[in-house]
Amino acid sequence: MPRPVLRNPSALSPIVTGSVYFVAASAALIISRFEGGLAFLWGANAFLMAELLTSRTAHWPRAIIACGIASAAATAMFGMGPMAAIPMAAINILESLIVAILCRRYVPDHRVIGAIRPLVVFILALTGVADIVTGMLAATVASQLTSVSFGASWLQWYTGHALGGLTCAPILIMLLQGELGRWMRETATPAKVEAAVLLILFTLCTVHIFYWARYPMLFAPLLPLVLIAFRVGQMGAAASIVLLAAIGGTATMSGVGPLTIIPASTGDRVQFFQFYLALSFLLCMPVAAELHARRRLFRLLSESEVRFRTIAEHSGDVVLNIGVDGVIEYASPSAHEQIGCAPELLLGQSAANLVDPQDRAIVIAAHRAALAQPGSVHQVEFRPLVTAGDFDWYEMVLRAVIDEHGDANGVVSTIRDISRHKARQRALQQVASRDALTGADSRRAFLEKLDEEIARAQTGARSSLLLIDIDHFKSVNDSYGHGAGDRVLSAFVERLRPGLRAVDSIGRLGGEEFAILLVDSDVDRSSLVCERLRTALADPVMMVGDQPIRVTFSAGLVELDGQSDRSAMLEAADKALYRAKRSGRNCMRLAA
Ligand code: GH3
Ligand code: MG
Ligand code: MG
Repeated sequence: MPRPVLRNPSALSPIVTGSVYFVAASAALIISRFEGGLAFLWGANAFLMAELLTSRTAHWPRAIIACGIASAAATAMFGMGPMAAIPMAAINILESLIVAILCRRYVPDHRVIGAIRPLVVFILALTGVADIVTGMLAATVASQLTSVSFGASWLQWYTGHALGGLTCAPILIMLLQGELGRWMRETATPAKVEAAVLLILFTLCTVHIFYWARYPMLFAPLLPLVLIAFRVGQMGAAASIVLLAAIGGTATMSGVGPLTIIPASTGDRVQFFQFYLALSFLLCMPVAAELHARRRLFRLLSESEVRFRTIAEHSGDVVLNIGVDGVIEYASPSAHEQIGCAPELLLGQSAANLVDPQDRAIVIAAHRAALAQPGSVHQVEFRPLVTAGDFDWYEMVLRAVIDEHGDANGVVSTIRDISRHKARQRALQQVASRDALTGADSRRAFLEKLDEEIARAQTGARSSLLLIDIDHFKSVNDSYGHGAGDRVLSAFVERLRPGLRAVDSIGRLGGEEFAILLVDSDVDRSSLVCERLRTALADPVMMVGDQPIRVTFSAGLVELDGQSDRSAMLEAADKALYRAKRSGRNCMRLAA
């Protein structure tokens, strides 16, 4: 279950945010208005950004109003005065709003921290859009109300706000999203100890460089910083940046540390320090975000691997992983009872070896189709080469596994015994293809066979169609009843069967009308067969009490010519049958 990302802050939350904003803004104004215009350091907006980025939009108005009031109060009391209070509050709000709206728009899952892409979106929204735009507005106000020029004011705003946002927002977002609590809960004690040792080391190193070192070794804290990004992760990296900003910032503003070698004002040194801080941020935060994303992905993958392995190992179906070359790479334990082969013996074998040669081509085609269309599911039914029980049909469902480029690099397939289903299907088909009363082919089944034979006739086979109708059958019904009539129909078919070969077919087209397909039998031979059938009916087909029942039939014969279709053939035979009836019945006529 993914964790809900956005918070629902309490009613008190705007008061807390506004108060913290006021303290941060006032402190920045008191200590960093070096030139009497805008502050050189500005972390206050990071509180509002973090608040907006981690909460639902419904909460935004309250947070904006609270911070707007706090900003106006701080500017009026410690900044450029009451005149600038409202415009500066509006500009500060605008900066946070631009960042929040752009991140909401371009980070679909609202997780601003945790991967490279959202981090880049955040950095670009802040430094590439929000601070450029709001810098111009703020510089306009400052250049009107103070003696600082537009250009200098813009630069002070841009560096102060960009750095304030980059330094403070990530850790605030993490804190608001409960990352610290989660890290404390989910991290083992040795890892916590390691994190503490690394942070202490980093602090000592930074204090040393900014207060004690004789040489300007600004690169020295970067080593433990990168180590922290790798070993501790995002929380550690963000905390280190805050530590670096606090220690380095305090030293620089108090006129000590490596930046004192710059022969310029405190404001210029603070701006250089902010540049140094930005590079440190860009060095460690993206690495930490990427590692975090990979760890998360790895954990999700391991969970899903465990889940699917459990399913595969307890499923009645056989699960196979098949490589692009058709070789089995994994077989689940149920291979034993389904296929009759230990799973480990299947590894390295071609999956086609499990399939009866008759069905290999379609199974291979399904495997290729699955590889060619990753994402779609393919299904094939096949007969096995060997089987554990009397399973004679399997169903295989295949789906491609894709690599990081989206290319198929194998197939996962499940194999299930469908023998019973197939047997039922066969039985149903048989029922549908037989006439229930006589056992002859049903009309539909017979016409299908006729179509097949017509197709064979097109390639030179000589087969014939004999259409027969029992003579005066109505009188059988009238004399002995419908039930007896039924039994006569059945006995009639039984009497004719011995005169036919296994390849021939007899079908009941309707009522007491039948059709016989004489395969590989030209018209001469078929005429002889018809005569034999007529003589077979010389004896009574059955007795009703001591009454013998005799029936005769009339017939029309046509040889399949390879050109006419089914209805033309039936019509020709029917016309011949009609002529036989007209000629006095109990005889056969050839189609014209
Ligand atoms: P002929 O074909 O020689 O012209 O005379 P017929 O008496 O056989 O005439 P027709 O073919 O018109 O009638 C067929 C009769 O067969 C009509 C119907 O009562 C009977 N019949 C049709 N189907 C069945 C059946 O399933 N069971 C029984 N008992 N009788 C059937
Ligand atoms: Mg009839
Ligand atoms: Mg009849």
